[in-house]
Amino acid sequence: MANPTIIVHGGAGNWPKNKHAIGLAGVRKAATRGFQIRQQGGSAIQAVEAAVIEMEDNPIFNAGKGSTLNLAGNVEADAGIMDGKTLGGAGVALLHHMKNPISLAKLVMEKTDHALLAGKTAERLGEAYGLPVANLRIPERVRQWKKAKHELEKRRISDFPRNLKLLQDKRGFFLRDTVGAPALDQKGNLAAADSTGGVSLKFPGRIGDSPILGAGLYADNRLGAATATGVGEIAMRLVVSKSACDAMLSLTAQSAAAKTVRDVTRLAGRGLGIVSLDRKGRYGIAHNTPHLCWAALTKDGGLVSQMVGRR
Ligand code: ASP
Repeated sequence: MANPTIIVHGGAGNWPKNKHAIGLAGVRKAATRGFQIRQQGGSAIQAVEAAVIEMEDNPIFNAGKGSTLNLAGNVEADAGIMDGKTLGGAGVALLHHMKNPISLAKLVMEKTDHALLAGKTAERLGEAYGLPVANLRIPERVRQWKKAKHELEKRRISDFPRNLKLLQDKRGFFLRDTVGAPALDQKGNLAAADSTGGVSLKFPGRIGDSPILGAGLYADNRLGAATATGVGEIAMRLVVSKSACDAMLSLTAQSAAAKTVRDVTRLAGRGLGIVSLDRKGRYGIAHNTPHLCWAALTKDGGLVSQMVGRR
């Protein structure tokens, strides 16, 4: 029997000091929720969904209720889930009002023939199955958006230099922290899930790595499971979650995560974090962002959590 384990992260990026304790409390609660499900015999898929719901409902995280806003000031949330036993998986994108995007991703995986569904159709499917809707545009994120937009206009933000140039040249065109969880259940099945509001001030219509299998998340019982956080464009271009899983064929979860992030730094620069879980239930954490907030729970090791600074 496998040693059931779950690791969750509340996102890479720059966590202000006054948010560290509340972020850590949030990932600890989510890991505990996922672990309980699996202790009760629930599947890895049920565990990662439950852990991610916990974080989507917690506005400290950039997912579900705490989703960051796009350049036009709206929520466009993405989420993904993958089952390492069947290699089934799906992502959902550009959601405005699904309370729990991760549950919609699970629905798409279980009820449709597709691996990625975006926008209104996706939300209508969720509503048809009775998934709850909610207003995800919370006042704190609106305040942050106004401030960030002002900084962008003053060119004090250099995150999207080409977007900025495009906006200056074509004025009429239109006017960050993901959560994730890989888990291993009592039967030895792996799963991964993630959910995000995306990067702050993204173009409307931009879809990140989180709903893309292989980029934002991957799970394969023969390899391991991984989720990524940080700049989605890097995660997609380097297919980082699948790369981390492939590395677990011969490396431990920690070595695989570290190798993947080293490769990212070399090939694409900074801006990414990975959490991974191997077939033996060992977990790994690596990032080249200022922080990564995570918690893990194992039968033997108990609950561990950390807001790691850049290594
Ligand atoms: N990876 C997410 C995205 O690019 C953002 C994040 O992890 O904070 O949409």
